[in-house]
Amino acid sequence: MPDSSISKFFEKNHKERIELIKNFANLSSEDIDILENSPGGITFENADKMVENAIGTFSLPLGIATNFKINGKDYLVPMVIEEPSVIAAASKGAKIARIHGGFTAEANESFSIGQIQVLDVKTSDAIEKIKASTTEILKIANDQSNTLSKMGKGAKEVSCKELQTDIGPMLIVELLIDVSDAMGANVTNSMCEAVSPLIEKITGGKVLLRILSNYSTRRMVKTSAVFDKNEIGGEEIVDKIIAAYQFADHDVYRAVTHNKGVMNGIIAVANATGQDSRAIEAAANAYAARSGHYGSLTHWSKDQDGNLIGTLEIPLSVGIVGGIINVHPLAKICTKILGVSSAQELACIIAATGLAQNFSAIRALSTEGIQKGHMKLHARNLASAAGAKPEQIDDIVKKMIEANSISLNKAKELLSQI
Ligand code: NAD
Repeated sequence: MPDSSISKFFEKNHKERIELIKNFANLSSEDIDILENSPGGITFENADKMVENAIGTFSLPLGIATNFKINGKDYLVPMVIEEPSVIAAASKGAKIARIHGGFTAEANESFSIGQIQVLDVKTSDAIEKIKASTTEILKIANDQSNTLSKMGKGAKEVSCKELQTDIGPMLIVELLIDVSDAMGANVTNSMCEAVSPLIEKITGGKVLLRILSNYSTRRMVKTSAVFDKNEIGGEEIVDKIIAAYQFADHDVYRAVTHNKGVMNGIIAVANATGQDSRAIEAAANAYAARSGHYGSLTHWSKDQDGNLIGTLEIPLSVGIVGGIINVHPLAKICTKILGVSSAQELACIIAATGLAQNFSAIRALSTEGIQKGHMKLHARNLASAAGAKPEQIDDIVKKMIEANSISLNKAKELLSQI
């Protein structure tokens, strides 16, 4: 079985890293060619088909987080992110989690929720009529997707709720749809639109909105890991990390930043695999405020031996088919590197990366602070911004660190001395 704990991956050059990934994930020569020679992965023509008014493409760094073991399987995790230190932090968190077997993770089946807003109805009567027509509604919904129907998936339930609003009561009809391995936004929207004429007919009301809910609480994922106390730096550090978590869970100003750290991991993997990152963010933030109080998405405690236990539970709507997943060449390659065979498996990896990321961030914050690691990586960006050539960057970074002066001006000054 391939091993993701590749020693000193960061010290390898581009070719060596790609060779390691190729062997790990059985990449084809075509995949390697895209990774090596096609910055960003898409052409203008691809971009022009994806969005309106395209004028170019915009690429971001793609890196690999090492050391991940999830439910006993090793993964090299592709991450697309512009922020320095995130990939290193995820790899480090995963390395420590490996000591006690890595991450365990579990994801629900992929049920999306479609909403149909019905106005101008007597809600109690309308609910009775909709209940009586459930079979017909589900049939019309399922006629929209042969693929899902053939798989035994598709719309499974119809439910209703009444909302009291500033302009009076309104009825919301919800479809619960098993979208299998897709994010399922389009199929959900199509089903909502298709059943609306029947809903108007049987209720006598007027349908307004017909759209999926991004609050994907029927697609929850939960992951946890034990982080070894000795590796972290002792039980005292474990206690500090728990105190840091308590701060986040009780103060919204800290919680937003804490959860931003979780999203550093989650969104980077989502980007690499072609997911809708806005949907993921919106759902996670709503979930963080589910009690009416915005708190930490992660939970940190100690086991009886004093080791740190982390858990993360979030709604996570992701797919391995649909959207740009099978269109964007790099998203395809990244999904291949992960070797995932279901949307649930992908959700488990994304959640574990968020937890690893949060562990490393609060560990650094509770000990030396994050600036030490951050500034070293930031120094590389500064050297580059100052105009240093790739072969000059390491030298300038080293000199800035030695001088304890990491700034654009210092980088320019050192560059002028070369
Ligand atoms: P999609 O429209 O490409 O549909 C996926 C389709 O793949 C399914 O309908 C099904 O017919 C087919 N399929 C084949 N094999 C499958 C399998 N094993 N499991 C499931 N389906 C399988 O993609 P989508 O997932 O419906 O939509 C995702 C896109 O929609 C994203 O790009 C997203 O940004 C966009 N979107 C989002 C919103 C929102 O979040 N509010 C709204 C509209 C569109």
